[in-house]
Amino acid sequence: MFSEVYSEGAILKDQQLEGKSCSLMGMKVLQKATRGRTAGLFSLIDTMWPPAMPLKAPGRGQAHEEVETRVPPPSFCYILSAHPSVGQIDVIEEDRISKLYQPPVTRCLREILQSDDHSTRCSFYARVIYQRSQLNDLLLLQQREIWLMVTDVSLQMQDENNSGLPKTVPVCVAPSCVLSQEVVEALAEATPHSFLFRDTLRAQGQIVCVERSVLLLQKPLVGMASSAPSCELTSPVKLNELDSVTQVNSVCSVQGTVVGVDESTAFSWPTCDLCGNERLEQSPGDRGAFSCGDCSRVVISPLPRRHLQVFLDCPSRPQCTVRVKLSQASVSSLLRFAACEDGSYEAQSVLGKEVGLLNCFVRSVTTHPASCVGLEEIELLTAGRASSRHC
Ligand SMILES: [Zn+2]
Repeated sequence: MFSEVYSEGAILKDQQLEGKSCSLMGMKVLQKATRGRTAGLFSLIDTMWPPAMPLKAPGRGQAHEEVETRVPPPSFCYILSAHPSVGQIDVIEEDRISKLYQPPVTRCLREILQSDDHSTRCSFYARVIYQRSQLNDLLLLQQREIWLMVTDVSLQMQDENNSGLPKTVPVCVAPSCVLSQEVVEALAEATPHSFLFRDTLRAQGQIVCVERSVLLLQKPLVGMASSAPSCELTSPVKLNELDSVTQVNSVCSVQGTVVGVDESTAFSWPTCDLCGNERLEQSPGDRGAFSCGDCSRVVISPLPRRHLQVFLDCPSRPQCTVRVKLSQASVSSLLRFAACEDGSYEAQSVLGKEVGLLNCFVRSVTTHPASCVGLEEIELLTAGRASSRHC
């Protein structure tokens, strides 16, 4: 029989309980959970079934005890709650791992994507190469779902076993997935990290971290043998090129010829030529002059930054309208020869220019009434990113 114990943080403080045999005191039954009504809980139970130790058949003698009996997984589970004042969980043998303990079985992403088993949980190591939301506000992180683009060696490797598989996979971290402070801080840093994604679910072709899923930060393994459970990628991450099976909320690479500029969404704003501050203030006395609050000075020659969306003709996606919101670096390089003296530019002069490969996040895919893809150029999380960001 399985039970799940809800507890207030205090009674578990500083205790490493995983794998240990414990005694529980001061518990009450909150609920008898059934398979039909708590599918998430039972997907975890099914992942741990059958038990690590052979089951004893009830009503049989000693001679038959070691005989493994095939028993279907349980159909109910008790949810217990520790009473705040008298509830207690004590480890029975501090230094011994229980024979019943089943550590998570990690698989590579290729194996997971090729498996049709959606009823149990899956665990894997993967590197986060892009994170959809910039998590500056740690409070927000606890409320919203986060999209992480991840990959591992098995997906990046090019061979006949990979045909038809994506090179990266989106992982949705739902608000119900509780994240440790360490993980929250790692995500807020927006630098490349590898995680152990433990007990995730697969739903509608996606990997989802929900209630009872765990994200564990993988520390860099210095000097470890290659047998270490690692997804360390040695070469630059490759993305799939935009094609007819590219899905929304994924990442892809794209290249093509500029066939149009979306004038209606194009705009520019001045930035500080010294520190890059994008929120310049109009100097009160001097019309047209800007001052930078960060540098406390008047910005004499502000650098314009531009928001620019272009339409591309892509060989990998013919007959499709591909709209790309370009990054500042691409805008600058595209407009390098198109800009006029006064800072404006001639839209006509960028037509016919080749761009790419650009790394993009797929914001929208529509097939009706017309085939359209909305992309946003992104910067992948790589080791050099944090330092080059403000240069
Ligand atoms: Zn400045």
